[in-house]
Amino acid sequence: MSYCTSRFHTVRRPTLEVRIGQVGVGGSNPIRVQSMTTSDTQDVATTVKQSIALAEVGCEIVRITAPNVQAARCLKDIRAQFSAAGFVRIPLVADIHFLPAAAMEAVEHVEKIRVNPGNYADKKKFAVKEYTDADYDQELQRLHDSFSPLVLRAKALGRSLRIGTNHGSLSDRIMNRYGDTPLGMVESALEFLRIGESHGFNQMILSMKSSNPKVMIEAYRLLVDRMNQAGMRYPLHLGVTEAGDGEDGRIKSAIGIGSLLFDGLGDTIRVSLTEDSVYEIPVAQALVKKAMSLWAPQAGDRKTESTPDRIDPFHFSKRATTALTLAEGCVVGPEQPPRVIVRTTLAELSDPKSENKKQKSNDTPAEGLLVSIASVADLGALPPSIPADCFLVLELAHSLSVADVQAALADWRGSVVILRAFTADEAETLRAFTQFIRAHGHHLAAATTDDDLALLVPTLRELGDDRLLFTLNSGLSVLSSQLSNHLHPTGRYRALVDALATIGSHAPVWIRNTSATTVAPEISFLSRLLDASILTGTLLCDGLGDLVSIETEADFTRATKLSYNVLQGAGARISKTEFVACPSCGRTLFDLQATTQRIRAQTGHLKGVKLAIMGCIVNGPGEMADADFGYVGGAPGKINLYVGKNCVQYNILQAEADGRLIALIKEHGKWTEPSSGTTTKP
Ligand code: SF4
Repeated sequence: MSYCTSRFHTVRRPTLEVRIGQVGVGGSNPIRVQSMTTSDTQDVATTVKQSIALAEVGCEIVRITAPNVQAARCLKDIRAQFSAAGFVRIPLVADIHFLPAAAMEAVEHVEKIRVNPGNYADKKKFAVKEYTDADYDQELQRLHDSFSPLVLRAKALGRSLRIGTNHGSLSDRIMNRYGDTPLGMVESALEFLRIGESHGFNQMILSMKSSNPKVMIEAYRLLVDRMNQAGMRYPLHLGVTEAGDGEDGRIKSAIGIGSLLFDGLGDTIRVSLTEDSVYEIPVAQALVKKAMSLWAPQAGDRKTESTPDRIDPFHFSKRATTALTLAEGCVVGPEQPPRVIVRTTLAELSDPKSENKKQKSNDTPAEGLLVSIASVADLGALPPSIPADCFLVLELAHSLSVADVQAALADWRGSVVILRAFTADEAETLRAFTQFIRAHGHHLAAATTDDDLALLVPTLRELGDDRLLFTLNSGLSVLSSQLSNHLHPTGRYRALVDALATIGSHAPVWIRNTSATTVAPEISFLSRLLDASILTGTLLCDGLGDLVSIETEADFTRATKLSYNVLQGAGARISKTEFVACPSCGRTLFDLQATTQRIRAQTGHLKGVKLAIMGCIVNGPGEMADADFGYVGGAPGKINLYVGKNCVQYNILQAEADGRLIALIKEHGKWTEPSSGTTTKP
């Protein structure tokens, strides 16, 4: 694999160490956690207070926006007061967009400067222009002239730089040549990197942020691939930008950041949430802890050596699978969204008043109901049926035979999926179960491992795919220290899918989040959410996975909601309004948190509509280019409204902006009236 040492183990990518003041990033340093203040930078007291609050909860690097030269000058006092408060070891980073002059001032005062290559020397007006090679070279020379003074000053002062590319703010020059693509993002960063290197400067860190985890994952992978080819070893700063707030913001961040960390990429991270910055830190720390617990030595990675790549890591395409109809209107397979299975109990299933049966009134129902069957008595306790558009999954204990199941399901109306673990010595049992389900119109979910699957091949070849699906044997802890090859959960599933490809099987794959797929587990909802998001989201972004269950969450309603939210975060299934909201910073022109919550309360029922809420213009129009509508700070107290990437209403009063936004949504035929009880409360 060209972007990482292993898709199965977390082998950390070797990088050079970059020093940000007294904090080292990359090399042998731990993964560093960082965040950003949200105050007006010229309000020195508040910015120092926020910096201290961040440092006190474990933030290791604090970033502060410097939107102009005056703000950049304030960094001197902020640095002095922050140090005087006892935080001399915590480095400060100036965040620069548009103004090289602000960067030149800031570099005098703080340890690192972040520049956005999309707007440091270029402009972004969505202008369409054909660049000849000569035009392009001329532009690169202009870039060289603009960026070199900062590089030289950083080198002289011992500062570091971050080349922070954002998907939403690529320059017109890059957009015209490479498009709005991961390749454009990578080229944009490499241009700046080469300028730094031309001055013998290597204290640079790179980032490739996007609000879309899939784009962000592909961009980082491509960047590493290109750096590997060029022999470059610069560290990476990871982040999903404009991830939003609450569960959705955490899910998107976990998918994007967690996926890369588990592949051994990433040296410092920021979880961007539209919440007070201090709330970002525990999420980032939990992600770092999970990734670092997986770090494996370079040697002993047998999978890398023996297994050819089964996916294109730089372009999304969904694995081709056989279509299976599991219930009325519920098909698994090609062109189908991943289906949601939720664990329940026999008692709940048999109770006519149970929550599980209230699926009809819900837009996001569980499509499969999973119950454990430990005995013949459990089989006898099954209800006579469940709703026709829902399928039942029976997780069978090993002690139960085909005859037991056959007797229990004699009068069953509808389709059942039998979930059973199969080890390598159970070929005959597998054959018996397959013949049973084939004869009675049921399906079999075979839980196995890549190794066991290989030994079951003769039986599987004989039986074909048309009623089979596969999942990981959840009884086998993926991180068990007894396992010599110590695969991470995503790696286990990748290995299973590779093994299916080896035998030519197109059977659908069910991603099960169980206690066996948790990493550095903690008894908290956050830990369960992060594990589920990383495993499920990474596989879905790789194009793998047809069914999903989050069995680590015991509450039925929460497990159902979390499943749909993870699918939405991975862009695999849209079940509600999609919000892209920036985390806010010193440039923000309105109260982002309150506004986001207010707009969500009014529009959260618009399934499939994508709304962007941006504090300012910096990343706004670009990052929300694929949003249907945008609400962007234009000036203090004034809002600009967008349809797609076009600004259609300028400088409207903030008090009128919500109503105008809704009118715009109606005008474009995307409005539906909320049904009673579906409006999200702020
Ligand atoms: S889009 Fe939001 S976070 Fe980004 S610079 Fe503007 S206000 Fe700050």
